[in-house]
Amino acid sequence: MSGKVQFEFATATRILFGEGKLAEAAPAAATLGKHALVVTGSTPDRAQKLLELLKEEGLKSTIHSVAGEPKIADARTGVECAHQNGCDLVIVFGGGSAIDAGKAIAALYTNPGEPLDYLEVIGGGQPLTQSPAPFIAIPTTAGTGAEVTRNAVLASPELRVKVSLRHPLMLPKLAIVDPQLTYELPPELTATTGLDALTQLIEPFTCTRATPMTDALCREAIPRAARSLQRACENPNPATREDMALASLHGGLALANSGLGAVHGFAAPIGGMFEAPHGAVCAALLPHVIAANLEALTEQNLKADRYTETARLLTGNPNATAKDGIDWVKTLVATLKIPGLSNYGISKGDFPDIIEKARTASSMKANPVNLDDAQLTGILQTAL
Ligand SMILES: [Zn+2]
Repeated sequence: MSGKVQFEFATATRILFGEGKLAEAAPAAATLGKHALVVTGSTPDRAQKLLELLKEEGLKSTIHSVAGEPKIADARTGVECAHQNGCDLVIVFGGGSAIDAGKAIAALYTNPGEPLDYLEVIGGGQPLTQSPAPFIAIPTTAGTGAEVTRNAVLASPELRVKVSLRHPLMLPKLAIVDPQLTYELPPELTATTGLDALTQLIEPFTCTRATPMTDALCREAIPRAARSLQRACENPNPATREDMALASLHGGLALANSGLGAVHGFAAPIGGMFEAPHGAVCAALLPHVIAANLEALTEQNLKADRYTETARLLTGNPNATAKDGIDWVKTLVATLKIPGLSNYGISKGDFPDIIEKARTASSMKANPVNLDDAQLTGILQTAL
């Protein structure tokens, strides 16, 4: 008999994790360049400490802020800003959106032509030919794990879609995950980004492309997210922030090397069509997708052991059933007051369009079971 295990695992060249690790950003940056384009979200003031550290280390920096989830045009203006100022490395200090923006800017800075030449689905989908500018990612939320993924999601407002710029070379040179940077994160953002992190552990663990290595990451981090997510929202302390930062990192490592599922299959088109934050959309969908998947697996006489194990990891109860896991997630989502999808203007009339687009999403293809249109409609209906 031949072996059955085959996988590839790739990640950032170097990962630094821990309280206070931000201090290592400047010495590391000095080995990669002399003038940093510092990409931030809508509040660049928060990067003040980083700018001071870079200055002390003798580096120049130019700040470039990108508000909200990045659009193709934001990548273009970022590249122009880097050229005008003669930057030779990109450092992102921000949430998942800022990291995606910075990752795209670093890639397009060294590769000629237009962003569209390289974008999947709506663009030419050309592979990058040049290594991106050296890129350091420093997340300030605990959710997306984008500091260790190889794609940047960009929105096209004209086409109402979100698409990826993706290449193995886009993995950052350095990811610095410092839980201290999330201490001031408001409860609402802690909840939605944290539920995205939890989703990004559950989906890789249950998907068709799970590997022993991504399983290990998920098994370690699901209990951390389970014990700390609610507390990080209601009564945060360094231990809960550390748990969520690790959960986010492990989720990013897992999803980038296995796959996701229907939650993310839906989140891609919904995020393109509506003004809805990614984490909040995932949070609204998660319990309903697990319930539909479990039902479909049972109907088709397929094994659902992964959902049983997920339930045990979530509840800490070694006898928990898959159904207990769904109840646990439902309670958490309700406790954290996650609004339904109708909150973003989504209505029944949008379902066919969302479903058609979701079917083509790469995440949907890794879902543990094939769902038909009626089942997909059912999920959207219950998540509304
Ligand atoms: Zn996500």
